[in-house]
Amino acid sequence: MIKEPLEILPGSNIGRGGMKRRKPCTHMINNHYKKTLEEFQKITRIITALSSSQEVDDIYSIILCALISPEGLNFSRSFLFTYDPKFDTFHGNMVLGPSSQEEACDFFSQMQKEEAAINTIIEAHRKKTGPGEEDIWDFPLSGLKVSSLWISMVQKMGFQNPLTDTIRRLSYSGYGKRKNEKFFHQICKDHRPRIIRQKRNPHGFPPGLSGILDIPFLAIPVTGKTQPYALVLVDRKFSNLSITSEDLQNLEWFVNQASLSVENAMLYQDLQEAYNDLKQMEMLKSNFLSTVSHELRTPLTTIYGFVELLMDNRVGEVSRDQRELLYRVAMNTRHLINIVNDIIEVAEVRTHGMSTIKGKSVHPVPALKAAIAHVQDQREDKNISIDIQERDSVPPVLADRLSLERILYHLLDNAVKFSPRNGRVLVEFHQTEGELQIAITDRGIGIAPGHLRRIYDYFYQVDNKLSRSFEGLGLGLTVTRLLISATGGKILAESTPGKGSIFTIVYPIAKQKKNL
Ligand code: ADP
Repeated sequence: MIKEPLEILPGSNIGRGGMKRRKPCTHMINNHYKKTLEEFQKITRIITALSSSQEVDDIYSIILCALISPEGLNFSRSFLFTYDPKFDTFHGNMVLGPSSQEEACDFFSQMQKEEAAINTIIEAHRKKTGPGEEDIWDFPLSGLKVSSLWISMVQKMGFQNPLTDTIRRLSYSGYGKRKNEKFFHQICKDHRPRIIRQKRNPHGFPPGLSGILDIPFLAIPVTGKTQPYALVLVDRKFSNLSITSEDLQNLEWFVNQASLSVENAMLYQDLQEAYNDLKQMEMLKSNFLSTVSHELRTPLTTIYGFVELLMDNRVGEVSRDQRELLYRVAMNTRHLINIVNDIIEVAEVRTHGMSTIKGKSVHPVPALKAAIAHVQDQREDKNISIDIQERDSVPPVLADRLSLERILYHLLDNAVKFSPRNGRVLVEFHQTEGELQIAITDRGIGIAPGHLRRIYDYFYQVDNKLSRSFEGLGLGLTVTRLLISATGGKILAESTPGKGSIFTIVYPIAKQKKNL
């Protein structure tokens, strides 16, 4: 014989025969289970809807919808007042719900129609997936149903309601002397929803609301950790139901969830604004640098041209001493033109992004010679030798001639700059598997590992004090890396502080035409 299950009742004494047989009431259990499941589905739907947007205004709309939808918390109207921290004031913002009995019928029948339409979609899904699988579809589609329903409700009715105009004229300052001005602030301070049962209550009742809200109504604060965001008021006007203390209990989780969603959206909005401001600043800086540099490049190029004319005796004979001085002017002007070109290069890459330059067959040795000529002055001043190895067997590479010259110039300029007097800079060529490596070695001050990672950053210098002993803007290696990437090469740096550095650039070897 199968025995009925045993149930231990509170206060029962097992030892003294307190164990009683009881038939479980399946009907009650089923009802209880159904109610809990429905409650759980409702919460899931509302949370899904609240997390479907990162826009503060959308979240407010969803909050208002969730409060009045029969699929949500089933109030009949919701009124939104948003907080303005600048003036410590609440402003009437939006209303969702009917403003007259006539409108109420229309409003709720529209809602039902919308719901029926979405239910048809759900049914179609259920038929497709078969009876055993319907649970899989139940939750996502309920979420979808409630989100789309609420959002389209706000779009259809939220902004056309005559109540909205009335509410938008209302604002309540925190500094007001009258008691009723503090109503909003007091409720937000408590962080808990509250039922207002009479017009005269301990915190006063704002006069502007008297003719609009039904009594009793519920005040729901939406607050962050440090400040209020909004206050939502809901009532059950034009409805058969009334506001009860059970509503208050149901709202506990909703208040937390709504506050969290608004807080997240606010943070996201702040981050977005800060990011946009930064991007704008970056753009302005790049445009400014680019404009100033373009303005400098033209006169500098003219100066350089005229000095060359003078040195070539084209406007009269110049003495040896004069030529010497003119040469210095020309070299310094060249140096300035290089700096201006670097700034323009970097500013343009930062504003418009990097463009690629198609590689052509380039002989590296002439490019190297041209680069050495540009550092001649600095080299002679410090009596530094630049030695080249394996010059004869160097193959052409796939690169851009002018870029390669500028890259080599920057690397040689640094090698000379950071070498001691009477030092030696070595340029070596190595061929490996279709690539040519050009290594520039110096025995200068070297770079510590922590800095080595950052030397290609914009305006980065290991010694960035104003009293530093080396000239420069911290752009040479930035431009070098940009040019190398644009022309299909690579750059590697090795360095030991106090011993020196090796900068190696790598380019693919260009296919050479065979001599028949
Ligand atoms: P700068 O115009 O200041 O030389 P770069 O972008 O060319 O700017 O180089 C960035 C920094 O990297 C330099 O300020 C320097 O601190 C370090 N650096 C670059 N090349 C060398 C080198 N060969 N030896 C030592 N330090 C170097």
